[in-house]
Amino acid sequence: MTSRYTLGADIGGTNFRLGIVSSEGEIISFERKASCVLHENASESLAGEIKEHITRNGYAERILAVAVGLPSLIDKSRSTVLSTPNLKGFDNLPLKKELEKNLGIPVFIERDVNFLLQNDMEKLGIKSEENVLGFYVGTGFGNSVFLGGKFYTGSNGAAGELGHIPILGNDLKCTCGNTGCIETVCSGKALEALAEKHFPHTDIKQVFKAHGNEPILKAFVHNLAVPIATEINILDPDVCIIGGGVIDMECFPKEILFDAVHFYARKPYPEKSLRLLFTRHDQKSGVFGSGIFAQKQIMKRGKTK
Ligand SMILES: [Zn+2]
Repeated sequence: MTSRYTLGADIGGTNFRLGIVSSEGEIISFERKASCVLHENASESLAGEIKEHITRNGYAERILAVAVGLPSLIDKSRSTVLSTPNLKGFDNLPLKKELEKNLGIPVFIERDVNFLLQNDMEKLGIKSEENVLGFYVGTGFGNSVFLGGKFYTGSNGAAGELGHIPILGNDLKCTCGNTGCIETVCSGKALEALAEKHFPHTDIKQVFKAHGNEPILKAFVHNLAVPIATEINILDPDVCIIGGGVIDMECFPKEILFDAVHFYARKPYPEKSLRLLFTRHDQKSGVFGSGIFAQKQIMKRGKTK
């Protein structure tokens, strides 16, 4: 069988990453650049970077589709980027249409967390028939919902904002503009604030290694299970995947989080059949997930033709 190639793009607030992915699941090429080069004429600049990457790696005319993951609110039809708080130039941008016009091949745009979950499902061998939830504790609290064979988008494209569920008695202001969001206490940002207050002389990267037995840190980890179990109790998934920068920290006590999720999950189900998996991401995870997503989309199109 001849290999097919797609290009995956992972756009972040600081850096963006591009790579070519084969139908065998191999990353053929990879590059990382500063996102500031995309600030002016975002779609044109991105198209230029993609073309340059493809040509430089010798894959001109061989790429069948492109998928772009963004830290953004995207419209339900997955055509227009509505809002991207941490990145200039991408607001109210008809990115899919403009890239397709410029590149002449199908382009898919998605929330970056969905491509992380696509990466995890591929790497962990999870089938698309399963209902899967992704929980990613980084700077914020990222969430991806995969139901009935596709990413769940909601009525406006805005589903999966688990970090922004309100919690009782919390009057902290969230970066989204609301007050009381769970992300204000369950996120990397919240951990940073906690560490600064209680362990000011410890490098944040070492905080679990140096102080993992302190009740305040155990409570922080235990509380991460609250949004996770909330969504589990609503959606009753087959598999849950947990990852992100906080979970990857040295000596992060995964067993405390694992036990707390079981503690809050409804008995006997979904608790009894809970499949909780931990994942670890690297620079290429978003690129791989988007490349695989594009592969699956062109396969689907081929079947329906
Ligand atoms: Zn919020």
